[in-house]
Amino acid sequence: MVYLDNAATTKMKESVLSAMMPYFFENFGNASSTYTTPGQAARTALTEARKTIAGCIGATERELYFTSGGSEADNWAIKGVMLKNQKKGNHIITTTIEHHAVLHTCEFLEKQGYKVTYVPVDEYGMVSVSDIENAITDETVLVSVMFANNEIGTINPIAEIGKLCRQKGVYFHTDAVQATGAVEIDVEKQNIDLLSMSAHKFHGPKGVGALYVRKGVQIENLIHGGAQENGKRATTENIAGIVGMAEALSEATANLEEKTAKITALRDYLIKTVLETVPYTRLNGHPEKRLPNNTSFCFKYIEGESLLLSLDMQGYVVSSGSACTSGSLDPSHVLLGIGLPHEIAHGSLRASLSEFTTKEEIDSFIKALVPIVQRLRNMSPLYEGVESK
Ligand SMILES: *Cc1c(COP(=O)(O)O)cnc(C)c1O
Repeated sequence: MVYLDNAATTKMKESVLSAMMPYFFENFGNASSTYTTPGQAARTALTEARKTIAGCIGATERELYFTSGGSEADNWAIKGVMLKNQKKGNHIITTTIEHHAVLHTCEFLEKQGYKVTYVPVDEYGMVSVSDIENAITDETVLVSVMFANNEIGTINPIAEIGKLCRQKGVYFHTDAVQATGAVEIDVEKQNIDLLSMSAHKFHGPKGVGALYVRKGVQIENLIHGGAQENGKRATTENIAGIVGMAEALSEATANLEEKTAKITALRDYLIKTVLETVPYTRLNGHPEKRLPNNTSFCFKYIEGESLLLSLDMQGYVVSSGSACTSGSLDPSHVLLGIGLPHEIAHGSLRASLSEFTTKEEIDSFIKALVPIVQRLRNMSPLYEGVESK
């Protein structure tokens, strides 16, 4: 199998599992218990992991709250801030191409009477700082803009948006689930107030993530119960998961430049070769300001779903970037959001790399892809018309 769907989830590292193991067995204690052994070991591990992860994003440990993943962090950031700041206003600004964890949360809040502005993005999927500025009103409490898009990889001007929000006195949240461990993050330099991350996107375990909340940000608690996470999020801590997340993030951010250079070179090789070899193909997302591991294409005259299935049968795992998982045949809101017509958006394919992806895998993927695209096009009545012209 050649796995090129690292934007969906990544394989956990052996070293991460090794770091987690003691917290299932010897040190299985409850970190909130008062007796010393084994609760003490769990408590120490929790503190250390929080320090490590906070350090990776330029935050302090008191500003980091563990969650069950990226979706929970997004939900908490948006609902929590809006609920707690009702006196200040009821307006949220976000973009049309956010992850559903943000979009569906905003839609839910709209039903509760909140106002949401969905700022459009340009043809590359980038949001403009002046569009955000123009959308800010006296009622605006929160701006939520993703760090990098999960389908097309485009990286937004986060530091500039953060600076604007700071000047205007509104909170700035960023869904950094794709960016964490892949690009440099510094919540101070980038003026970020709230940031979501998820361990399974950087070779950590599934079911654990975190929300960074800048000191002083007013946020409502969403999970009521015990006093865990400084009283802000109840439930007995997932110590093994949290330890795994810390190990995975410190490994991901170690030698980041070197790793980024290697993945980016492979990414660009894949993009260049596909665009040169397959006619009627476009690259989605920004040519330079994109995640090191992301490629996204649209192949005219074919269905992304058929392409995906044919590749799958030959052992190549990619994603169509469409809403196939929800059982809907509508093309992806991201591809429509960058202005692609339905028929083009339907022919999409996302191949996302990891630090473990090799040149051999990319070559064999391209070798499989080219004839499949040709075969599917040969079956397409639309393509027949094109070829005869
Ligand atoms: C994967 C992803 C999420 C959801 O994270 P989970 O941990 O799976 O809940 C949210 N936002 C983005 C941009 C993602 O890529």
